[in-house]
Amino acid sequence: MAAAPAQLSAPAVPTTQASAALRPLAPGDARITDGFWHTRQQRNRSAGLRSGYEQLEASGTFRNFRIVGGAEQGEASGMIFQDSDGYKWLEAVAYELGREDDPELRGMAQQVTGWIASAQQEDGYLNSVHTLRHSPEERYSNMAWNHELYCYGHLIQAAVALSRSAGEEELLAVALRIVDHLRSVFGPDLRHSTCGHPVIEMALVELYRLTDRTDIQDLARFFLDVRGADERFPGAHPGPGYFSADVPVRAAHSVEGHAVRALYLFAGATDQAIEDGDAELLARSEAVFADLLATKTYVTGGMGARWDWEAFGDPYEMTTDRGYAETCAAIGAIQWAWRLLLATGKGVYADAVERLLFNAFLAGVSLAGTEYFYVNSLQLREGAKADEGRSIAHGRRGWFDCACCPPNIMRTFASLDHLVATSTSEGLQIHQFAAGTWSTGEGTERL
Ligand SMILES: [Zn+2]
Repeated sequence: MAAAPAQLSAPAVPTTQASAALRPLAPGDARITDGFWHTRQQRNRSAGLRSGYEQLEASGTFRNFRIVGGAEQGEASGMIFQDSDGYKWLEAVAYELGREDDPELRGMAQQVTGWIASAQQEDGYLNSVHTLRHSPEERYSNMAWNHELYCYGHLIQAAVALSRSAGEEELLAVALRIVDHLRSVFGPDLRHSTCGHPVIEMALVELYRLTDRTDIQDLARFFLDVRGADERFPGAHPGPGYFSADVPVRAAHSVEGHAVRALYLFAGATDQAIEDGDAELLARSEAVFADLLATKTYVTGGMGARWDWEAFGDPYEMTTDRGYAETCAAIGAIQWAWRLLLATGKGVYADAVERLLFNAFLAGVSLAGTEYFYVNSLQLREGAKADEGRSIAHGRRGWFDCACCPPNIMRTFASLDHLVATSTSEGLQIHQFAAGTWSTGEGTERL
C-alpha cells in the first residue's frame, strides 16, 4: 500500500467540536525554514536521530523487542521502561518524515516498527522488558513502578505521529490492539487502577482525536480520574504524592512529587478538559499552572528543585547547585503550556513556552545535537564531583542508563514548527520567534 503524502502534523490536535480558543495549523501549514531553530532542527535530523538509533541499538532497547519476537536470543537489557525510549525516537522520526521525507529514515522507522509489532503478545499486551523478566501472571502486579501503561502511552503517541505525519499505519494497528487489551483489564466495571507514571492520559486523548472512537476517550478519562481516588499506590515508597496521587487531579492545588509525572498528568488533564468542554477542569489546570509558575519555577523555566526523587520542592525552594530541572520536565511543561494556550488563547502560556524552549529545554542538548544534560542545575561549583551518571559535572553525555531525556529532545525539535503559530476564524496568531512560513489556508505569513 502506498503511503499517504507526508506532512508534519501537530502533536496535539483538538477535534472540531472541542472547546479550544486557538487551533493548531493544518498538516503542512507550519514550517520553520531558516534561522536559529532551523539550524538546530537540521542537526537533530541529520545527527541526533542517527546517533539516537545507534544508542538505542547499543543499549539493547531494539534488541529487547527482537528477543521477544523470536528473532534473537538473550536477556532483557536496561530499565523496565526501556521500550519508551524507542517509542519517543520513533515519534521524532515521524515528525521529521512530515517535515521532509527521507527514504533511509523511513526505512529505519519501518524496521523498528516491525520489531515492536513482533513483540506484541496474542492478547495485545506489549512490554518487551516485562515479558522477558516476569511471568504473564505478573503483568500489572506493580502499577506504581513497572511503567506498563507509561510505555503504552509513548507507543500510542508514536503511532499517532506516524499515521498523521508519515502516512505509516502499522504501529497504529499495534496501538489499537493495545487499547482493546486495556479495555479488557481496566475500567469502571473492571480493575480500578492506573500507572505510577502518567502519559497514557494524553496519549489516549490523542488517539481518540485521530480515530474518533469515544471509548478511547472514556478510557483516558477513567485513567485520569482513578488516580488519587481509587488508586493511590498504597505501600509504594515514597508515598502517593510522588505519583501525583495524593488527591484526584480535579482537586489538586499544586504540583507535587516527581516533576515529569505531574507535568504529563496535567497536560493530559488539559487535553481532557478541551475535549469535554470541561470548564471546571480547565480552571483547575490553569490555577495549578499559575501556582507552579509563581512558586516552583526557576528563572530559566526549569522545574523540579529536588535531586532526590526528581521532584518538586516546597514553594520557593529553588536551590541552584543541586537543583534538578530535568530536561524532560521542561518538555512536559511545554506540552502542558501549549495545551493551555490552545484552550484559552492567553499569551502567558505562549510566553511560558518561549522561556522553556530557549532556556530549560535548549540547555539540555549540545550544539551538535548528539549530547545531552539530564539535569540542568543553575550552578556548577568549581571542583564539583561527577558523583553519578546524571551529574552536570560530566558535561553533556551521549546517552544515559535512564535515557528518557535524549529522545524526548528529539521529538520536541522535530515537532517544533507547530508551536510557533495557531489559527482562528479571525486569522493567524504568531506565538514564537522563528523564521518560516505559516498558513491558515487562506493567507500565508512569512517571517
Ligand atoms: Zn528525562
